[in-house]
Amino acid sequence: MKTQNQKKHTSPKITITAEMIRQYTYCPRKIYWRHVMGFSEPKTPQVERGKRIHKKIWHGRKTIKRKNKTQKIERCYYVYDPKTQIAGTIDLLIITKNNTKTEYTPIEIKTGFTKTPQKQHIIQLATYIMLLKNTGHNTQKGILYYKDKNKKYEITLTKQLEKEILQAKEKITEIILNEKEPPKTKTKKKCPPCEYNKLCNPTNT
Ligand code: SF4
Repeated sequence: MKTQNQKKHTSPKITITAEMIRQYTYCPRKIYWRHVMGFSEPKTPQVERGKRIHKKIWHGRKTIKRKNKTQKIERCYYVYDPKTQIAGTIDLLIITKNNTKTEYTPIEIKTGFTKTPQKQHIIQLATYIMLLKNTGHNTQKGILYYKDKNKKYEITLTKQLEKEILQAKEKITEIILNEKEPPKTKTKKKCPPCEYNKLCNPTNT
């Protein structure tokens, strides 16, 4: 499957997305199945439900006006950062304008009954914050919203998260260009809900 030009990852020329960084953070092997082997996302009930919820996101008002403030809501806002070659499509972007400044707040919506915000969701949202900042948007924070629990968490971009995002981007590029198969996750409980479980563990499913 390797071509001559793809034997070794030297100069990445591919765009990595925040979604890929989320997948990689959950388990690097997901990148292999999806982007090296070319298996599209299997239709598990969880995946289908997530897609339905994302389709329904915000069909209400697009602009909210208050005394000194206007809030505009953009849905599926695409942002590409040429500096890092990372792109992303933000579920909802709240654009708040007052007399002196404009602030951009990305919102990422998730399903499930997790007790605490999950690392892969935090890093995905942190990637959006980084992309917005790098492309000249005034962004201080993002909101991670778990719809099933109706819980919101404020996420900020720390130096550590930024480092992890850039490291993940490098590793993803390496997996894709070198067609490298990462080992299975050591956290076994991650496999049953994973959409690629049947491929990784055919005898257990
Ligand atoms: S089934 Fe397990 S090892 Fe395979 S991609 Fe999913 S989490 Fe990773």
